[in-house]
Amino acid sequence: MSIELINIWYIVAAALFIFGLKQLGSPATAVRGNMLSALGMLIAIAVTLFNAQILSFQWIIGAAVIGAIIGFVAAEKVAMTSMPEMVALFNGSGGIASLFVGWAALYNLGNSTFTDITIVLSILIGGLTFTGSILAWGKLSEVMTSRAVVFGAQRIFNGALLVALLVCSVLFVMDPSTDSPYLYAIIALSFLFGVMAVLPIGGADMPVVISLLNSYSGLAACAAGFAINNNILIVAGSMVGAAGIILTNIMCKAMNRSLANVLFSGFGAVKQASKVEGEVKPISAEDAGLILEAAQSVTFVPGYGMAVAQAQHVVRELGELLEENGAEVTYAIHPVAGRMPGHMNVLLAEANVPYDQLIEMEDINPRIDNIDVAVVIGANDVVNPAARNDENSPIYGMPIINVDHARTVFVLKRSMASGFSGVDNPLFFGENTRMLFGDAKESLSQVIADFK
Ligand code: NDP
Repeated sequence: MSIELINIWYIVAAALFIFGLKQLGSPATAVRGNMLSALGMLIAIAVTLFNAQILSFQWIIGAAVIGAIIGFVAAEKVAMTSMPEMVALFNGSGGIASLFVGWAALYNLGNSTFTDITIVLSILIGGLTFTGSILAWGKLSEVMTSRAVVFGAQRIFNGALLVALLVCSVLFVMDPSTDSPYLYAIIALSFLFGVMAVLPIGGADMPVVISLLNSYSGLAACAAGFAINNNILIVAGSMVGAAGIILTNIMCKAMNRSLANVLFSGFGAVKQASKVEGEVKPISAEDAGLILEAAQSVTFVPGYGMAVAQAQHVVRELGELLEENGAEVTYAIHPVAGRMPGHMNVLLAEANVPYDQLIEMEDINPRIDNIDVAVVIGANDVVNPAARNDENSPIYGMPIINVDHARTVFVLKRSMASGFSGVDNPLFFGENTRMLFGDAKESLSQVIADFK
C-alpha cells in the first residue's frame, strides 16, 4: 500500500475517532460513538498491518488478537464497581506500550534530534504513566491506603527527581544510543517519578489523578507517534491527551480546586476536620415509604454505594411509582459521585432512567429548598455539608449537592462509616435527616414493597 493511501485511511480513522468522541458526549448516542471509535481503531490497526516498515504482518495480527481477547474478557468480567481500577490499568498499559515503542524506535537508523527528543518524551511520560497508574489502581482498589501519603521534604525530593530526569534527558539527546546509561536512568527515574507524583494525592482528589493519567497516556502515545513517524498514533494520542486534560479541568472545577493545589497540597494529610456529634435518627423502610407517599417532589442523589448495591434498577422502579403517585421526580448528579467520571450517568442510563430527569449539581442546588424529600443512595462525600461549613475539613470548598436544604433527607447506607475521603459527615446528624440503614437495594426494595 502506498504511503498516500495509508494516510488517507488514517484520515478516515481519525474522522471516526472525532465523530465517536462527539457522540460519547450524550448518553443517548454513547453506544454508537463507542462503536464508531472502535471501527476507527480497527481501520487504523488493519492499515498499519500493511505498513511493513513497522513490524511484520504476523506480529501485529498476533498482538491485535491477543489484545482483543484480553480486552474482551476483562470488559466482560469486570464488575461495574471495579471499572475505575480497570481504567487505571488501561492508562498504565498505554503508558508502558508507549515506553516500549519509543525505546524500539531508538533502533531505527538515522534518527533526527527531533525524533530523539520525541523518543525520550515517549519513554519518560510512558514510564511515569505506567507506575503512576499502577499506584492509582492500588489506591482505588484499596490494596493500599487510598489516603494521600506525605513526608517531610517530599516536594524537594520530587523537585530533585524532576531535575535529574531533565538532565539525563538532555545528556541522552546529546549522544543517543541504545546502550546509553542515560537511557536506563531515564526509565528508572520516570518509574520512580510516577510513584512519587501519585503518592501525595488521595482521598477525594483521586478523580483528578485518574483523568490526568489518562491525559498523560495520550501524550505518551502522541510522542511515540512522532518517534516512529506514525500519523494515526499522533492524532489518537493527542486526542486522548486533550480529552484527558479537559476532563481533568472539569474534575478540578467539580472540586473547586486548582490543578496545582490538587497535585501538590496532599489531600487531607494535614487537616483534621472538626469532630461531628449529635443524634442519629434512624427510620424504617415502612415509615420512609409513608413520607415518600405524601411527597410532591423527590430527588434521588446517587453515589458510590448505589454502584456497590447495584440499586439503579430499584431506584428507577421507585421513581416511576412516585411519579405515578403524582410526585415530581429528579436525579441529582454530582460530577465526582462514584469512582469514575460519569459513573452515575452510566448506571442510571443502564437502568433506563429518562435522561431529562438527570439534573446536574449546579441546576439542582438552586431548587433544592423546595424539594420535599432528598433520597441519598450510598452517597457520602458529595453530600457532606462540612465541605461548605467546616474550614478545617479536608474537603472544604468542594461544591456539594445541598441535600441538607431539602425539607427531609433520607440517607440510605449500611453504617455510619465515612466515604472515600475518610471524612465524617454531619449530614447524618441533621435535624431533618433520617438514616435508613442497610444495603441500598434491599432498603429500596422494601420501600417499594410497602409502597405497593
Ligand atoms: P463515597 O465514597 O463518599 O460514599 C459511598 C458510601 O456508600 C459509603 O459511605 C458507604 O457507606 C455507602 N455504601 C457502600 N456500599 C453500600 C451499599 N451496598 N448500600 C448502601 N450504601 C453503601 O461516595 P460518593 O459517591 O458520595 O463520593 C465519591 C468519592 O469518591 C469522592 O470522595 C470522590 O472524590 C471519590 N472518587 C471519585 C472518582 C470519580 O471519578 N468519580 C474517582 C476516585 C475517587 P456504608 O459503608 O456505611 O454503607
